[in-house]
Amino acid sequence: MKFIGILGGTFNPIHHGHLRIAQEIAEAVNLDHVKFIPSANPPHKAPPQVTAQQRAEMVQLAIQDNPLFSMDIRELERTGPSYTIDTLKSLRREHRHATFCLILGADAFAYYDQWHEWESILNYCHLVLVPRPNTTNSLTLNPRLNAVLQQHGTQDILQLTQQQNGCIIQLTVTALEISSSKIRTMIAQHKSAIYLTPPAVMHYLQQHQLYQI
Ligand code: ATP
Ligand code: MG
Repeated sequence: MKFIGILGGTFNPIHHGHLRIAQEIAEAVNLDHVKFIPSANPPHKAPPQVTAQQRAEMVQLAIQDNPLFSMDIRELERTGPSYTIDTLKSLRREHRHATFCLILGADAFAYYDQWHEWESILNYCHLVLVPRPNTTNSLTLNPRLNAVLQQHGTQDILQLTQQQNGCIIQLTVTALEISSSKIRTMIAQHKSAIYLTPPAVMHYLQQHQLYQI
């Protein structure tokens, strides 16, 4: 039975924060692999010169040497907003017996109860929450999210393999205070993003002159 991690994101651009959480969670819970799923219609608008195709190309460059990682472009192939629930339903149709672990930074979980059909999401996967360094809003969860954590939370990694869905586990990873926004700002200010993202992505950013405004 496949045990699959899912890391959705805008990846605008992908950076070492994304790659480390995927690697560390894969090792911590013993995932068979992690799917990176770029979203087509991000909530915060990408600068016009960066297309979904380019964001996906950078993901591919970043993960290509890691056999644990793959990219899944199903959200780019759909029209309309990229709802996670639709992605999970379509993954479930393809992998009936797999167990999915949706990896989320705490900043993303802070808005989880605003997601489309959020109450169904745990019928399709487990949630693996990781801290997001320096995000104030993720420290105070609203009562509804606290109740979800109460109801579904576990500290036992084994439970993720004993159930096919419905658990939330909070794990720690190496804290890296890197964000795509920070990288975009740096580049716009003529600073380099070197060492925040893999060399292949750096090369792509320079080659296509992305985020230079
Ligand atoms: P932006 O600044 O544009 O919002 P981002 O760095 O937050 O970009 P996303 O593509 O929005 O990147 O993030 C995808 C997922 O990865 C989210 O669940 C987010 O919380 C998580 N994530 C991104 N960077 C980190 C990090 N440095 N540490 C922990 N989680 C992270
Ligand atoms: Mg973000």
